[in-house]
Amino acid sequence: QAPAAVNDDPPKIRVVVRKRPISKKERERGDDDVVDVLNKQNTVVVNEEKVKVDLTKYVERHAFKFDEALDEGVTNEAVYQLTVGPLVRTLFRNGRASCFAYGQTGSGKTYTMSPLPIRASADIFTYMAQAAHRDLNLVVSCFEIYGNKVFDLLNQRKKLNILEDGKRQVVVVGLKEFVVDDVEGVKALIEESAKQRSTSATSANSDSSRSHSIMQFALKKPPPAPAVPLRRGEEAPEPRIVGKISFIDLAGSERGADTYDNNRQTRLEGAEINKSLLALKECIRALDSDARHVPFRGSKLTAVLRDSFVGAEARTVMIANISPCSTSVEHTLNTLRYADRVK
Ligand code: ADP
Ligand code: MG
Repeated sequence: QAPAAVNDDPPKIRVVVRKRPISKKERERGDDDVVDVLNKQNTVVVNEEKVKVDLTKYVERHAFKFDEALDEGVTNEAVYQLTVGPLVRTLFRNGRASCFAYGQTGSGKTYTMSPLPIRASADIFTYMAQAAHRDLNLVVSCFEIYGNKVFDLLNQRKKLNILEDGKRQVVVVGLKEFVVDDVEGVKALIEESAKQRSTSATSANSDSSRSHSIMQFALKKPPPAPAVPLRRGEEAPEPRIVGKISFIDLAGSERGADTYDNNRQTRLEGAEINKSLLALKECIRALDSDARHVPFRGSKLTAVLRDSFVGAEARTVMIANISPCSTSVEHTLNTLRYADRVK
């Protein structure tokens, strides 16, 4: 079955907001759903309850418009079709894509992000079955950025270094890569990376809400067989990257505010998260304005995603996840303001 028809030239930046449903537990503790999604207007409205000096209550209404505003009834499949789906085709013609899930802890980032690579791989394999693309390989890697350090999520959380090579490409040195042949293979790697991420969360000072997790797909074309045998010491040509997409489940946005925490470690991690989320916003904005200088050096997160931010083929989707709860209004407004300024 062929992937659904897609827009052949997706916009450089797309910002989508997704509201999650309120849970039974939240209702039971007296929380209210204070977020309205106006589908047709692509608008989200937050109804913030405030109290006047004379103690009378009133509601302040905050409205934000995005490329898409998705309510709690929208399925993961529909989210895929509106976000990553249109980017898949570009990967077969030198595309560089990234998809971010932004939002506070508990807003639905992982729920939204984890099915996307699996679903994307289904479409990728369909294209790869076509004669023109039969020689390509899908290569998968997955790592985490935690407190300015990089860990391989598919190799026992091995700590890795990043380096800028001679071609000004940023590389994660020694990152494990897996050639995957089917959707099941992608699923297995996602499960493995999720396990490595959560196992570490139970150990001291580690918490997945404080890390960015990044899964990358590269479509690689093997080099043509050499006409003459390689000489001794001569390096075999590398496969060429045809297209690349990164799926990024960001650290909880509220963690960026941990900069006033009493714990030194937490404070440093908070400062790093804050820095990376600000740098990310600037990099995405630069993409839209065709700015010559993309400030990717601003953080480790943006540095490792450098090749997704430069060039005419770069496409980004930001999914801003929000909670419906009255108790989360402050974080929700922060998320919406951040998403609003990305574009
Ligand atoms: P985050 O990764 O941002 O911390 P999660 O993805 O873990 O948040 O979501 C928090 C909880 O809300 C989970 O129990 C998840 O299953 C649930 N949830 C999130 N989004 C949805 C949704 N759109 N529909 C149903 N449940 C959701
Ligand atoms: Mg999560």
